[in-house]
Amino acid sequence: MKLLENKTALITGASRGIGRSHALLFAEEGANIIFTDLKENEMSESLLSELRAKGVRADFLASNASDNAQAVEVAEWVAKNYGRLDILVNNAGITKDNLILRMSVEDWNLIMDVNLRSVFNYTKAFAPMMMKQRAGSIINISSIVGLNGNAGQCNYSASKAGIIGFTRSIAKELGSRNIRCNAVAPGFIETPMTQQLPEDVRKDWMTKIPLRRGGLDTDVAHVSLFLASDLASYVTGQVISCDGGLAIN
Ligand code: NAP
Repeated sequence: MKLLENKTALITGASRGIGRSHALLFAEEGANIIFTDLKENEMSESLLSELRAKGVRADFLASNASDNAQAVEVAEWVAKNYGRLDILVNNAGITKDNLILRMSVEDWNLIMDVNLRSVFNYTKAFAPMMMKQRAGSIINISSIVGLNGNAGQCNYSASKAGIIGFTRSIAKELGSRNIRCNAVAPGFIETPMTQQLPEDVRKDWMTKIPLRRGGLDTDVAHVSLFLASDLASYVTGQVISCDGGLAIN
């Protein structure tokens, strides 16, 4: 029996990177997949084909996760077309790095909207359905910089720290309905987000990682697979780092 057989999962911002890897792994484990991204493009089309080729039901919805009304529309669509949602992965996230003195209010707000408000939007939109089911696993993709901070990323690290407070609160609020809520805190993961960093910054990160390599998007997806599955049925309100040991103090 596959780990996610008969479950339906929704992953935000999943056309590429860590989200895409979640969609593919969860499908391999038998889950039906709904994934979102800002726009339909070649990446979303190819992912949809790959998912369906694995024999599961899969759908793509173009939707901006930072927009509350669009998240509500997605939840209504899922209710109508799938009837339930077992796993929600709040993955959509972006960076807009700068030192505090140079950071614009617009860049602060943008990061809060895409990284943190989106988690509120989707959790709120799907909570009623999960409460009725008396089951659900919500996984929020935070970051080790949400735990430790990072110079030049005060907006991003604040949004990711906010996700951790939100995760623990929702775990307490919805636990009595058998809804679990956990966060994964990836370290330096090799995705388009980190590949755009200058070579000297990348090298500096590598020397600080005890396992001496950047993480793979599949490394993060494997942690989420555990949290999504019934193997984690007594795990809630936790933040699991997936960082090659980077955040060890
Ligand atoms: P990525 O490759 O840049 O992928 C992010 C995805 O989110 C893209 O497909 C992007 O769409 C989508 N997206 C952006 N804004 C959106 C919105 N408003 N609504 C819906 N979708 C949106 O990033 P990644 O590295 O896979 O990161 C995934 C998550 O892991 C993020 O939350 C990130 O903060 C977190 N994380 C990453 C790392 C790392 O080292 N990579 C470390 C810690 C945490 P477009 O293609 O249209 O932009």
